[in-house]
Amino acid sequence: MWGESLKNTLPATTEVLDMSAHVRLIKSEGGDGMDAEDHHGGYDPHYWLDIDNMIIMTKVVKEELSRLFPEKAAAFETSAQAYIGRLEKLKSDYHTGLKGCKNRILVSNHRAFGYLAQANGLEAVSVIGLSSDEQPSAKVIGKVIALVKEHGIKTIFFEEFINDNVAQTIARESGARSESLQPLENISEDELKSHQTYESIMRENLAKLTEAMECR
Ligand SMILES: [Zn+2]
Repeated sequence: MWGESLKNTLPATTEVLDMSAHVRLIKSEGGDGMDAEDHHGGYDPHYWLDIDNMIIMTKVVKEELSRLFPEKAAAFETSAQAYIGRLEKLKSDYHTGLKGCKNRILVSNHRAFGYLAQANGLEAVSVIGLSSDEQPSAKVIGKVIALVKEHGIKTIFFEEFINDNVAQTIARESGARSESLQPLENISEDELKSHQTYESIMRENLAKLTEAMECR
């Protein structure tokens, strides 16, 4: 597990919180059926894209910090409550924004948006599996092109940081356009410099989704 190798690079005194023990996880089996296989130990690792999981993580961090620095517990409580309030608002904006969409199928290159889809009643379809470095077969690409045509899907999403050739090919062959969607696994130099946050990037993603899926 990548978390283990990361842990080994940190000083032994570093406190490590394993969030996957607290959040709600989706099993990686039984997805869209277009992936060959995955290597994530049975669970979809992109759990931060379910805003409810971000709320859980905020509480876990607050409790852990309060345990380590009990004299600051009141301040941690105040900031956690404020942040949870912003996350609740973000969650309700997602629900409202994605309620009346003409198209409810979210097509992306790698399977990163299962949590986001499930939390908002969308269907996520991906070309490759949970790892973003797989190469899809021509057969799978053909299946996705057929699905995009059949459902009149207007936009194919790809992730920043990875080669978007496959998304471009599918878009070209099916008459759709391609657009980036940020799964928040990494953050770019530019995003860091412009002080982008989980919230601002999630709002950017929402704007792209409502446009692509023709939501009223
Ligand atoms: Zn991923």
